Amino acid sequence: MKFRKIIYGFIGIGIACAIVCGVIVWDILHFSDTTVAFLNVGQGDSILISHGSYQILIDGGPDGTRLMEQLGAQMPFWDRNIEIVIATHPDSDHIDGLISVFKNYSVNQFWYTDAGKNTSVYKALNYYVEKESNIEKISTYRGLRANIGNGIYLDVVYPFKKSMEDIDNINDSSIVTLLTVGKEVFYFGGDLTSEIEDVLPLNNKITILKASHHGSKFSTSDTFLQKTKPRDVIISTGKNNRYGHPHKRVLQSVKNIGAQIFRTDQQGTIVYNCHQEKCDVVLKK
Ligand SMILES: [Zn+2]
Repeated sequence: MKFRKIIYGFIGIGIACAIVCGVIVWDILHFSDTTVAFLNVGQGDSILISHGSYQILIDGGPDGTRLMEQLGAQMPFWDRNIEIVIATHPDSDHIDGLISVFKNYSVNQFWYTDAGKNTSVYKALNYYVEKESNIEKISTYRGLRANIGNGIYLDVVYPFKKSMEDIDNINDSSIVTLLTVGKEVFYFGGDLTSEIEDVLPLNNKITILKASHHGSKFSTSDTFLQKTKPRDVIISTGKNNRYGHPHKRVLQSVKNIGAQIFRTDQQGTIVYNCHQEKCDVVLKK
């Protein structure tokens, strides 16, 4: 009788281990691809680049609770580390959510500029960054590159210089990056206005372009679209937002070049799954 109990005990433990192992293996396989997710964070920006368990988060949207839900859905449950967090510029709709990231995840590097360093939003975020002494803080400007692996990399194309402290329009301090995955090149420009966007030296062909400043009329000009000619344009904006984003001129300009538009306010989180050379869009609510 006692012997039988022991056997049943071993069988029970074996089944439990098999289930746990199965879940972990499924999770590893499920998250092993390279993905780029434009997270549905409402009126704001947040983009998660994942390559297996390596992640780069560009901005965190305006709401930490919402961002945590989104990251929970996009990252494996056992992965509580984000390799690089980038704050494009210190506007609430880009960095308020990041406070929750520093509270809930370990972060290896924080990429930032000194623009708006006396503003309350900047100081609030910086308080949590400073609390974590092992985060490497990197003042960001053109030339910096993150090597993600397998020939995938993220390049900083703007700002041109190290200090952006004296910038008049905080939107024009936005860190601009290009992500290269095989033949695909993603453009992430924060809230950069046309004044800078139109003169950016871009040597790469852009295939997937995030419209800067949530599709406002001050960005994504005809000139810029004619120069870059992306296949897809992503607009990250909130439902019925009070700014009237995206502007009808931008929608028309994108239509004129024949690019496909994807909007977080209409389609929710927009995920690109990349297989070798090509990235295909998958829509998720
Ligand atoms: Zn914004």
